[in-house]
Amino acid sequence: MRLRNIRGSREVIAESSYVIHEEESRAGTWKEIFGNDHPVYIEIGMGKGKFIMETARRNPQNNYVGIEKYSSVLLRALEKMDQEEQPLKNLYFVRMDAEYITKVFAAGEVSGIYLNFSDPWPKDRHAKRRLTSPEFLRRYDQILIPEGKVEFKTDNRPLFDYSLESVKEAGWKLDAVTFDLHHDDKMNQNNIMTEYEERFSAQGNPIHKMIISR
Ligand code: SAM
Repeated sequence: MRLRNIRGSREVIAESSYVIHEEESRAGTWKEIFGNDHPVYIEIGMGKGKFIMETARRNPQNNYVGIEKYSSVLLRALEKMDQEEQPLKNLYFVRMDAEYITKVFAAGEVSGIYLNFSDPWPKDRHAKRRLTSPEFLRRYDQILIPEGKVEFKTDNRPLFDYSLESVKEAGWKLDAVTFDLHHDDKMNQNNIMTEYEERFSAQGNPIHKMIISR
C-alpha cells in the first residue's frame, strides 16, 4: 500500500478511542480492555479493516483486535469505524509491526489468528518477514490457546506453497486446505471477503486458504 505518509494520520490515531496505545504494556490485560472474558481473535495486516469489521459485526460473542503496521492504512479503518451505525464494542485496533506480537499478547490470550493476503516478500533473504514463516508460527504458538487456529487466505500461489512447507517445518497440522476457496462449498461457507480478495477474485484469480493448528 502506498498511502504511508498521509499527513496527520499519526495524530488522528493517537487520539482515536478505537486504537489501543502503549501496546507493549497490554499483554495479559485484554479482558480488562474489552470489559469481558470473551475469546479474543486477531487479524494481522488487516489493511483497511473490511474483514475484521464485518467479522466483529457478525460475532458479538467474540472480541477482535485488528493489527496494522502503517498509520496511513489504519486511518482508513478508523474512518470506516466512524461510519458504523452501531459502534462495534468488540473491536479495537493496534498500530504495530507483528514481529513484536508476543509482547502485546500473553500466553494463551488469543483464540485465533487471521492472515489475509499477507505481503509475499518474494526474495529468499526476506523469508523471515513472511507472516507464515516458521519464525512467525513460533510467535503464534506462544500467544494462542492450545486449540487455537490460524486461518490464512491468499491468491499468491508461491507464498501459499511456501506456507504449506513452513507449516510442516514448524510441526503444525494442516486442518483444512483449498486452492479455490470460492468454489469450495464447505470452506467458503460464511466466507467474509477482504478488500484484496474482492479485487483479485474479480480479476479471475483463485483464492487459496488453509486452516492450521498445533
Ligand atoms: N488483509 C487486507 C486484505 O486482505 O485486504 C490487506 C492486505 S495487504 C496486501 C497487507 C497488509 O498487511 C498491509 O496493510 C501491510 O501494511 C500489513 N502488514 C504487512 N506486514 C505487517 C506486519 N509485520 N505487521 C503488521 N501489519 C503488516
